[in-house]
Amino acid sequence: MSDYEDANPLADAYLDTLAIRSGINRTHEGEHSEPIFATSSYVFSNAAEAAERFSGELSGNVYSRYTNPTVRAFEQRLAALEGAEAAVATASGMAAILSVCMALFKSGDHVVCSRDVFGTTISLFSKYLAKFGIEVTFVPLLNIEGWRNAVQPNTVMFFLETPSNPLCEVADLSALSKLARANDCLLAVDNCFCTPALQRPLALGADIVVHSATKYLDGQGRCMGGAVVGGRQHMDEVLTFLRTAGPTMSPFNAWVFLKGLETLRLRMEAHSRSALVIAEWLQQQSAVEKVYYAGLEDHPGHALAARQQSAFGGVLSFLVKGGREEAWQFTDATRLMSLTANLGDAKTTIVHPATTTHARLTPQQRAEAGIKEGLIRIAVGLEHVEDLIADLQRGLAGIR
Ligand SMILES: *Cc1c(COP(=O)(O)O)cnc(C)c1O
Repeated sequence: MSDYEDANPLADAYLDTLAIRSGINRTHEGEHSEPIFATSSYVFSNAAEAAERFSGELSGNVYSRYTNPTVRAFEQRLAALEGAEAAVATASGMAAILSVCMALFKSGDHVVCSRDVFGTTISLFSKYLAKFGIEVTFVPLLNIEGWRNAVQPNTVMFFLETPSNPLCEVADLSALSKLARANDCLLAVDNCFCTPALQRPLALGADIVVHSATKYLDGQGRCMGGAVVGGRQHMDEVLTFLRTAGPTMSPFNAWVFLKGLETLRLRMEAHSRSALVIAEWLQQQSAVEKVYYAGLEDHPGHALAARQQSAFGGVLSFLVKGGREEAWQFTDATRLMSLTANLGDAKTTIVHPATTTHARLTPQQRAEAGIKEGLIRIAVGLEHVEDLIADLQRGLAGIR
């Protein structure tokens, strides 16, 4: 055989190719699209094989709480995109974060977490980890001294999201991974907003990536799912937790996410392109005080985001002059965009963070986090950008 025939076509493949060609394990039927293995268990050809598969001596499927070919295909494809050794799919994004905690923490451990992460992550950490004797310190995302000062002898992990929601603050992943390493802690990054199409945290020194597949990996708002991505040893520990506790991804959802990954880069580029057009348009409106989007050159995180990400993503926020009343008038006057807190959908969504996603914070916590009453967040979808701008114009006209 020549070198060409011998070569693995995915060894040095581009992300676009990996998103379409990795994780394919064709059955004898010769199907082109990946099949959905809707089965809870698997049969063995004899008692000895059953014993060997149960003991792990022989690899192969046993029970879909922890082994399913469709779920495995999704895991392999996502791991390939993140440049990771392995991935473990979970029932939701929160199940992914919980699985990391249960697999890797023990009582007496300490975690440093960005203050600017998904609200339910903060609840999980502060309400439930505390019950099991795991302490969490929350620090502002961009304050590297804050991260350094928060480290204790028992600190085991840094956890963050970048860019942050809703203000699009951009954390320096290389700097934080060096700090984590110097203190013998792991760096875990929730890569939900960028996805591996725009940002690959493991290449910048992170140890673990978590995803809410519910958002951009699906991209059309159909299914709940999540994933943990990282080195083999950590993923084995996460999978052992999954096998024991059961927050497993369904094969049907895994199939939807597999198909979602095929179009991920095209979608992320389109979301990013429209978001930039909208951010620039909003900046020119007299009723808009400020626009928060790292794609804008005057955003403090612009240069870092340009280095660390291949585009700026689909989520942006803006501050209307006035306060809550004006923001509500704006959102209620739009007709095309969906008024919902979700994101990562082909359909553009609009939300007032202070009274929805960030309503659980006290007024002082909201002030510290910069979530003002006039702030509106949009997650730009895939509609034509001119129609979205026309809808934003309706919003502006709604302010009395
Ligand atoms: C939605 C979201 C989650 C939680 O994911 P679910 O799939 O809803 O459980 C976690 N992190 C971020 C950044 C999210 O946007």
